[in-house]
Amino acid sequence: MPRRVLVVEDEEDIANLVKIQLEGLSCTVKLAFDGAVGLAEAEATPYDLVILDLMLPGMDGLEICRRIRAKSRYTPILMLTSKSSELDRVLGLEMGADDYLTKPFSVMELVARVKAILRRVDALSAPSAEHKVIDTGNLRIDVERREVLANGARVELTAKEFDLLLYFAENPGRVFTRSQLLDRVWGYSHSGYEHTVNSHINRLRAKIEENPNQPDCIQTVWGVGYKFRDRS
Ligand code: CA
Repeated sequence: MPRRVLVVEDEEDIANLVKIQLEGLSCTVKLAFDGAVGLAEAEATPYDLVILDLMLPGMDGLEICRRIRAKSRYTPILMLTSKSSELDRVLGLEMGADDYLTKPFSVMELVARVKAILRRVDALSAPSAEHKVIDTGNLRIDVERREVLANGARVELTAKEFDLLLYFAENPGRVFTRSQLLDRVWGYSHSGYEHTVNSHINRLRAKIEENPNQPDCIQTVWGVGYKFRDRS
């Protein structure tokens, strides 16, 4: 089955370039040059990936991203931004994109990011012998459904918050620096964006910890970084 990808990008040259590259990866590609049209398309048809420009006529990429995230069906989103100040906005608002690329990007970079996202989607949807669930203390993490229960109650996490929590929970007791987390969870290093890790951890703690001021799940290791509590 070819993968269906929706590209919402008003710069036609970029949209067509992305289309050609994705077709090279055996994807079926639909283009939308306007935000409102793109959102309507994303809502009408299930896509395996949505590539979303940030600045769009009709409706901006952040709003589209928020609306797609509000749906129960999980759709991976790769965000395109044209300058690093926009990247700050994307990271700062944490609107739940799976990944982002800053323009101008190379074709190789684009293909690598898309492949990484599709691999992750395949891994999540692959029928596995056992339904993977991590049960640890007050947390229950359903890996395939991307659902988390804390103290028996469902918590809503953004895509990156979930990835970060899962990475920690799969490596209990291991200490990670901020730049290691940025590299492993976000997939590549962005020196200078370590504060992004701090803000994600603060939000995650507020959602999963019984007492966020005295975190038990994700602990601070002073002067180094963070670790997930040891398995007891
Ligand atoms: Ca644009």
